[in-house]
Amino acid sequence: MSEHELTHALPSYLEPDHVGPWGIYLEQVERVTPYLGRQAKWVETLKRPKRVLIVDIPVELDDGTIAHFEGYRVQHNVSRGPGKGGVRYHQDVTLSEVMALAAWMSVKAAAVDLPFGGAKGGIRLDPRNYSRAELERITRRYTSEIGVIIGPHKDIPAPDVNTNAQTMAWMMDTYSMNHGSTTTGVVTGKPISLGGSLGRVEATGRGVFVVGCAAAKDNGIDIEGARVCVQGFGNVGGTAARLFEDAGAKVIAVQDHTGTVYNSQGLDVLSLLKHVEENGGVAGAPDCDALAADEFWGLETDILIPAALEGQIHEGNADRIRARIVIEGANGPTTPEADDILSNKGIFVVPDVLANAGGVTVSYFEWVQDFSSFFWTEEEINERLERMMHRAYTSVAGVAAQHKVSLRTAAFIAACSRILQAREVRGLYP
Ligand code: NAD
Repeated sequence: MSEHELTHALPSYLEPDHVGPWGIYLEQVERVTPYLGRQAKWVETLKRPKRVLIVDIPVELDDGTIAHFEGYRVQHNVSRGPGKGGVRYHQDVTLSEVMALAAWMSVKAAAVDLPFGGAKGGIRLDPRNYSRAELERITRRYTSEIGVIIGPHKDIPAPDVNTNAQTMAWMMDTYSMNHGSTTTGVVTGKPISLGGSLGRVEATGRGVFVVGCAAAKDNGIDIEGARVCVQGFGNVGGTAARLFEDAGAKVIAVQDHTGTVYNSQGLDVLSLLKHVEENGGVAGAPDCDALAADEFWGLETDILIPAALEGQIHEGNADRIRARIVIEGANGPTTPEADDILSNKGIFVVPDVLANAGGVTVSYFEWVQDFSSFFWTEEEINERLERMMHRAYTSVAGVAAQHKVSLRTAAFIAACSRILQAREVRGLYP
């Protein structure tokens, strides 16, 4: 075998996957490698997950039949601390998607300089097809199966798409029962009554707002009167929209899975949130115009916040975007091709690994509070979150200026350098 094969051959389960989220992640790593200096020697570390666990989850359904589900837990990198990352319940979850999400968690934690590595988990199922009792049994069996690799000092799951505080309560209880003692620090995003943190629910949207304001300032945009368009009006987009409105901005358009609403004078965000609560989406909201979904991307705006799904800004619509800055609330909302188009148009993009890191930051606070059994006020949480997000934004902006690169490349340079420095000083064992 040649030296190249010895050092660079990929594990067999990675070979076919050079498209999709894992392929995008690999391309992002390729783009930063020239900036890693002598640390580039270790870059292969980032191109393969440290641990991949695939589990079978047999569960008795309510009607007495036995169903088998496929579950995953991937620890991408734990050089800087225990793995950290959510658990996703979705019918389209695949191993390669979970690997990419785990890798982005490594980058996100390091970009914000949290003492965590990156991990992610998932179960391939559509939770809408199962009762609450079935979901509880599935969650508990999954937790038992991955129990060999998770733990408060090893890998700490959290909610992600279609999982919530209740899911975390079941996971925490199952882990605790199996280990013989109540272990609140094994998961974050728990209910407050179980050691959850105040401010966690709003944390991601608040982080988007904080870095959004910093980016606006750097681009000469006054938040007072600034126009904001938001795609996704859930936890992240809804909170960010409300905070921008409170700060004096005009949220002129909101899009969700039910429709797109527009008012050039600014929507009333609180009324819109109430409408969504009562009607399940923004469609049919009063005092605004309904737009066709595609029109959303061509609106002239100061700030655009994609806060829904992956791949929303792509080759097909990036050229029409007339925003001055884009703040990525969602994970992976911009394809690499679209990223280049936005960059050529001079649009300033704050990447997901920085912009939506508020959630994992307050998860870190939750984990710290659980260990000390001492809980902070919401004001303390928000103040610390704001400080950490500011610090991360300023440090990534500094790297961008130094290398004359985009904030995304800069965030990857800062994060990958930190991860590989840890790898280097720890050394290889044996
Ligand atoms: P959520 O379920 O609360 O809200 C999702 C929103 O997206 C809803 O308003 C929904 O209507 C909208 N949406 C769904 N499909 C759409 C479509 N095809 N077109 C337009 N809108 C659509 O989810 P969330 O927690 O706000 O997460 C949103 C994004 O932020 C995801 O990419 C998630 O991974 C990312 N994120 C969330 C957190 C967090 O703490 N919640 C942290 C980091 C990243």
